[in-house]
Amino acid sequence: MAAPWPNLYTHRKVAEESSKACDICYKSSTSVLITPDKKDFFYVCAVHLKDKNFATPKVDEDAVKAKRERELAEETERLKKEYEEKQKKKKEKESKDKEEDAKKAEEEKKKSGGIYGFFERQFKGEPDKPAEEASTPPPPPEDEPRVFELKPAFYQQRIQKKRQADAAKRDRERVKQPDYFPSVPTDPPVRKNGPAP
Ligand SMILES: [Zn+2]
Repeated sequence: MAAPWPNLYTHRKVAEESSKACDICYKSSTSVLITPDKKDFFYVCAVHLKDKNFATPKVDEDAVKAKRERELAEETERLKKEYEEKQKKKKEKESKDKEEDAKKAEEEKKKSGGIYGFFERQFKGEPDKPAEEASTPPPPPEDEPRVFELKPAFYQQRIQKKRQADAAKRDRERVKQPDYFPSVPTDPPVRKNGPAP
């Protein structure tokens, strides 16, 4: 039988006053796991989400892709600006004190020696190499995983519970039908073989 909903649960937080018992340990929790189609949801402590025996985080591929593209666009824009800025400065410098600069660079190279000196100058942030050029912004912290795939046992348990709940609901509705007890239309059902009072 096909699964009634995908094994894909999104973690949501609810207000403190809406907290309910965790499905696993029955402690009160404000974390809810809900399927995208909202066919199933249950309360669970956030701590269980870190338990690999309960669920594994699913990477939201689309969100990651969109984020990566956005970052790439920003980075490209930043590099472009940086490059243009550099070109501008370079031209200014070239026209101003081309010879002097060359001499200075030559001296600097001799003084501090090759590639090591280059890094040292970067580190010190000397005026001919602006400090901000060397530092890139730190990457933003990774988002907490929000979508989880339940372990098969827990997933099956959810489906089972839902089926039982649905069956119970169907039974309750059937009882409400006026023709459910055709032989005893007015009174509630009487136990025929029960012990005598
Ligand atoms: Zn719990």
